Order: sequence, then structure tokens, then C-alpha cells
Amino acid sequence: MEACDCIEPQWPADELLVKYQYISDFFIALAYFSIPLELIYFVKKSSFFPYRWVLIQFGAFIVLCGATHLINLWTFTSHSKALALVMTAAKISTAVVSCATALMLVHIIPDLLSVKIRELILRNKAEQLDREKGLILTQEETGRHVRMLTHEIRSTLDRHTILMTTLVELGRTLDLAECAIWMPSRTGLNLQLSHTLHHPLPVGSVSINLPIVTQLFNSDRAIRIPHTCPLARIRPHMGRYVPPEVVAVRVPLLHLSNFQINDWPEFSTRSYAVMVLMLPSDSARKWHAYELELVDVVVDQVAVALSHAAILEESMRARDLLMEQNVALDLARREAEMAIRARNDFLAVMNHEMQTPMHAITALSSLLLESELTAEQRLMVETVLKSSKLLATLINDVLDLSKLEDGSLQLEMGAFNLHAVFREVINLIKPIATVKKLSVTGTLAPDLPLCAVGDEKRLMQTIINVASNAVKFSKEGHISIRASVAYPDSLRDPRAPEFHPISSDGHFYLHVQVKDTGCGISPQDLPHVFTKFAQSQNGANNGYSGSGLGLAISKRFVGLMGGHIWLESEGIGKGCTTTFIVKLGVCDNQSGHLQQTLPPTKLHHREAESADYIALLKNENGLPPPKLRYQRSL
Ligand code: ADP
Repeated sequence: MEACDCIEPQWPADELLVKYQYISDFFIALAYFSIPLELIYFVKKSSFFPYRWVLIQFGAFIVLCGATHLINLWTFTSHSKALALVMTAAKISTAVVSCATALMLVHIIPDLLSVKIRELILRNKAEQLDREKGLILTQEETGRHVRMLTHEIRSTLDRHTILMTTLVELGRTLDLAECAIWMPSRTGLNLQLSHTLHHPLPVGSVSINLPIVTQLFNSDRAIRIPHTCPLARIRPHMGRYVPPEVVAVRVPLLHLSNFQINDWPEFSTRSYAVMVLMLPSDSARKWHAYELELVDVVVDQVAVALSHAAILEESMRARDLLMEQNVALDLARREAEMAIRARNDFLAVMNHEMQTPMHAITALSSLLLESELTAEQRLMVETVLKSSKLLATLINDVLDLSKLEDGSLQLEMGAFNLHAVFREVINLIKPIATVKKLSVTGTLAPDLPLCAVGDEKRLMQTIINVASNAVKFSKEGHISIRASVAYPDSLRDPRAPEFHPISSDGHFYLHVQVKDTGCGISPQDLPHVFTKFAQSQNGANNGYSGSGLGLAISKRFVGLMGGHIWLESEGIGKGCTTTFIVKLGVCDNQSGHLQQTLPPTKLHHREAESADYIALLKNENGLPPPKLRYQRSL
């Protein structure tokens, strides 16, 4: 037997076992060789892989393992020593590479773990992003609802419709069992149920001082309230009653101090209504945060809409009021126009139709008196003359007053002899005073200027009105007329705050006081003496009844002359003092001189006309003209 350089297997080979091992080794080798191919493919395909060299090492390890198994195939039968050497070399390299790979893996495990952690963090982040996305979607949904609700709420500007629309829309959007509004009462001490979604309004109110109400008023967000709270008692009890989830929120009401809205309570401070929202009691539903948020936003919108509605309502009311006022103004204007037309007609009639015949009657009766008459006839003519003078005075007064009232009467300014005016007045009243056994004194202060600039006729008319009243209302005693210069500082009268005397170089204030010892005026009549057609209420006038126009006209004249007139009396039977102040111009020396050469008084054009008329008559009859205008009936 030839010596063989072969290595015999260590154990007797069992045919079948060997066969299986052989096949397994073959497949292991095949699998080992295919893995690096797959790894190479993977590395090539991946754009970023940080452990490339580890993979190469790992691939080498696998290839070596595969090679070991492959070589092992030839060791099942007798084989040469060279094969054994190859096998040994393969095993040693495999051992080295596998140990190196194992060591390398120990080093890269922390890295791999951090990769894992990063992956975990990323996954968490992804989940969080998902949640946020969900939230954004929910918010978008809420926003959409709010927009819808706001649109509905704002589509009207009537407060009750706004509140009802809010309840209906919130009820629909949030699927509520009930939704209600508690409004503050008129007193502001209670809350009263004013609007509900489904159930009829139960009677009753809730005090504003309840802790839950205070808590609600102090919070601008919707808060959960217990279903047993009085605010939540807005629906009747059901048989099988599961407590519902209830929230409430304050609804700010506009501060209405500047507005007066009929059926809206008015508050001195900012006030709130309360909105109560109830989920269905038979469901396990709870309030979600986004639902509460939606309620908050909607309530804010409702507050804005309510304030707009309140302002609109107020402006509509103001517009209606304005329209009413316009109609009334229009009516008043038309009435005023009619009154003006009527007054003009009246003036025309008074002026022409009445005054002209009056002058004729007066003049003719004066002429008649100067002719030969029997005592009886004289008495009759005298009565006619007296009555016609009375009537002429009345016509003149009415004409003056009418002109004064429509502002058409203008003062006729000119220089005149002031002293002469007083002399004239005294001359006029003296005859009657003598008949009545009244003494008359006139006092002119030494500093009273001789000449003044003003409306002489109106001044004289005023003095005559006042002086003739003194004569008229006195049966006996004394009448004094005093004239002086008044200095503005001493003229301040608390009874006439509207009268502001102002001193100036070109002017002075004339102070006239007429005192009598007549019937006096009762304190209750005193405030009315300047009212036109004023008459004593208690018959203190000794049976005399005048037209009641003299003082009313005098007051207006004095007003036109920048002055002030007033009456004082200590009571009935205690006499009367009439005082007036008027502003007159100071004459320069020349006009003062001129004035002294002028006749004491000038007649008004109408009197002048009548004087002409009388002169005409006189010339025809050779008789003197009677005094007309200034001689009021005494
Ligand atoms: P008349 O004298 O024509 O009635 P007046 O306007 O001059 O109208 O006066 C208004 C009223 O004031 C008089 O009716 C009278 O009651 C009261 N009165 C005016 N002056 C006096 C006075 N000196 N004494 C008493 N009463 C007077």
C-alpha cells in the first residue's frame, strides 16, 4: 500500500450524517456569499450611510465564514495537506476578522443607540406635530363656526334678534340642550331670564350679589357652573334626571349713559348680562376646551353687535325725533308766517283805518269844545274827547307794542334838551294832579346834563307812562319825579343779573325815579306788572282799569335804550316807586348849545301829521290844536 499524503477524518463517517453536513455546509457557504452581495447593493443604493467601513469589515467576515464552510466541503473525504493548510488559514483569518468585527460593534453600539434615541425623539416630534396639526384643524373649524355665527349675528342690528340668533346658532353648532340669557333688571340688582332657546321662560330672578354671579362678572372666559346653581335652573326637571354639564359666561353690555333707550336698562357702571349654555343631560358629553373658546369668541362678537345695535337704535330714535321736530318746526314756521300776515293786516288797519278817524274825532271834538255850547252839550263833547283820547292812546300803544315785538321799531336818535323833557312831563300831568289834589314835585340833580343824545320821544313816552300811573293810582298825597346821573358801579342790581351797565366816555346813565303815595301794589301782583295787559288781581287799583300796556311798552323802550326798569311797593295802600335807568349819549358842546336853542320837544312824525291836520282844521276854524300823543289818559 502506497503511503498517502492524506488526512483522514477524525471520526468514522456515518454516510447519511456526512451527506447532510455536506449539503448544509454548501448552503451556508452559498448564503454567506450572497449576503455581501446584498450589502454591496444596499451601500451602493443608500446615499448616506455613516458606517461604510464597518460594513466592509462585516462583509469580509461573512465572506471568510462562507469560505471556511466552502473549504469544509472537501474535508468530508480524504484530502490533501494543502487543503488542510488552506482550511486552517481560512479559519484563522475568519477568527481574526470576526473578533475585530465584534470589537468594532462594541464601539459603534453607543452610536447606533443614539441613532435609535434620535429616531425615538423624531417619532415623538412627529406625533406632536400630528397633534398640533389636529389642533390647528380644530381651531380652523372653530374659526369657521365663529365666522358663521358672527355673520348670522351681525346680519341684524336689532338687539333682540341678535340675542335670539346667538342662542339658536350656538345651540345648533354645539348641540346644546338649552341656552339662555339673563339680563340685568332695571334696578340693576337682579338678573332676569330674558331669552331662552327651547323652554318657556320661568318667572323669577337671580340676585346680582350671588358669589357665582360675582365670579362670572370678574372673569372674561366661560366657566363651568354647577347644575344646581340658580342660573342653571332654566329648564323643567325631567323624570330620569342626569345632571347636565353647564357653563356660563358674562356678556358685556354697552355703557349707555349717553343714550336713553326705551326698554334697555340704564346703568351707571359697566354691566353684564349672563349667558348660560347646557349640554344634553342624557349624554356623557363634556365641554371641550375648544368649545369653551368658541363660546368666549362668540360672546365677544355678541357684545360688539349689541353695542352697534344700541348705537344704531339711538341714532334712529334721534333721527325720528329730529323728523318730528322738523315737522313741528315747519308747522310753527307756517303759523308764524300766518301770524306775521295777520299782524301786518292788523297794523295796516290800526294805522290807517282806525287812527285817521280817531284823529278826526279828537280834533273835531276839541274844536267843538271851543264853540258856544250848553253845559249839557259841553259835558257830552268833553266825554267824547276824553274817550277818543283814551282810544287814540290805546291804538298808539298797540301799534308801538306790535312794532317792538317784531323788532321793527328803531330808536330815533338825536340831541335834545333833557331838562325840557322833564318840564314838559310835569306840565302835562300837573293839571290832572291838581284836579285830584295831588302835589307834584320835579327834582333835577345839579349834575344832570342839559343836553343828551337819544330818542327823546321814547324817553318822554316812558316818563309819561310811569308818571301818569303815579297820578292815576293815587287819590291823595304827593308825587315826586327825580332825575339824576347814575354811575355804573352803583347800578348793579341783583334782581336784574342780565343788566350790565358799562361806563364809557360818550355816554351816561340817566336815573329816573317816580314816587307816589297811591294804592300801592300787592307782592303777588308785583312780578306781573310788566306783562302786557297786566291788571291788578285784587282790585287794588281803586276801580281803575287801564289797558295794561304802558309798563310793558316802557320796559321794551328802556331795554332798547340799554337800561333797566323796576317797581317797588311795600304793599297795598303804601304807595309805589317806579325807577328806570337809560343810557344816553353825551352832547358835544356845540350840539349842547344848539340844543338849548331848539324847542323843548319834537313831535313824532305821526303826531306831526296829526298836528298838521289839526293846524289845518284850526286854520279853518281859527282854533288852537289839542295836545295829542303824550297825553295818556290820567
Ligand atoms: P295800565 O296802567 O294801563 O293798566 P300799566 O302797564 O301802566 O297799565 O300798569 C300795569 C299795572 O301795574 C296796572 O294795572 C297797575 O295794577 C300796576 N301799577 C303800575 N303803576 C302803578 C302805581 N304807581 N301804583 C299802583 N299800581 C301800579
